[in-house]
Amino acid sequence: MWLAISCGQATEPESVAQIPTTTFTAVSPLATFTSVPTLTSTSTKTATPTYTPTNLPPTQTPTLQNTSTPIPSNTPTATATQTIQPTNTPLPTFTATPLPLPTPQGVISWTVKVPILMYHYISVPPENADVYRTDLSVIPDAFLEQMTYLAENGYNPIDFYDLSRAITDQQELPEKPVILTFDDGYLDNYENAYPILEQFGFKGTFFIVTEFVDFGREGYMSWEMITEMGDNGHRFEPHSRTHPDLRNQERAVLIWEMLGPQETLAYHLGYTPRYFSYPSGRYDEDAIQILDELGFWGAVTTQSGKWHGFPERFEWARLRVRFNTPLAEFEDMVDPGDTINGKRPEDN
Ligand SMILES: [Zn+2]
Repeated sequence: MWLAISCGQATEPESVAQIPTTTFTAVSPLATFTSVPTLTSTSTKTATPTYTPTNLPPTQTPTLQNTSTPIPSNTPTATATQTIQPTNTPLPTFTATPLPLPTPQGVISWTVKVPILMYHYISVPPENADVYRTDLSVIPDAFLEQMTYLAENGYNPIDFYDLSRAITDQQELPEKPVILTFDDGYLDNYENAYPILEQFGFKGTFFIVTEFVDFGREGYMSWEMITEMGDNGHRFEPHSRTHPDLRNQERAVLIWEMLGPQETLAYHLGYTPRYFSYPSGRYDEDAIQILDELGFWGAVTTQSGKWHGFPERFEWARLRVRFNTPLAEFEDMVDPGDTINGKRPEDN
């Protein structure tokens, strides 16, 4: 049944085909050691390091064992930017901030109920739109109605950094937490969603396909737009480099599609993004493994669910808001039930 499509499944492959193909080049610094001069002419043992994609840049090594280091109280980003809206104040960098991830040795890991809403287009679909394109669209009036509902009923949009800290017992969540995600980086996100989010002081998380932006692809946000929104507290995280199917891919390809956009976004935003959205919701165990090695703290799928914990942090579920999602259904999606600030009553 067509309603079960995943993110952009029908529309994106054909458009992806229009992207100029990119020649793969090694991302490791080791790849620059191609011409090493020999010290003596008699030596035949020239050092010729071979590039192996298993060697990641040392700066990306995740600090999984660093559980004894308390996390610095770097919370001002989350709370201060939402209400004060400073103009053009760069977010503090997260690069030097290891998150003490819980280990089986006893660090607490909470499972919290936080609806992660998934949007794509925020615009009226074109007249010739097929059912898939239409289903990926939420018209601005409906989006405004949904955000108004959140604002008038005490909901607090948070980001994934808040979620990770809540799960690892580093931070309490606000009342009725939700996460607003937007896949693909469409231009209408800037033109239509951004002003509405600003109207309520809400922050969104936008998953970007960085080559679409680098190549100035029509219909997608520019780096100027992304930087402006980032300065106002919105989050930008990788949605891969070229939006491929990440299943059954070579290790080097996975690194190219994950580390590349992570570093590109870090360059433009001033902090290293730590969350990934699988293109069209497609991934496998190898993809999860590479994300973990690259220092990502979590990833979202197109599967449906509201509860999120540490063990499944690379498979967090979301809730798809559709073209024809009635407000009553939206209300059910974000309903916190009997949870208190995302936690079960007995966990508080
Ligand atoms: Zn997508």
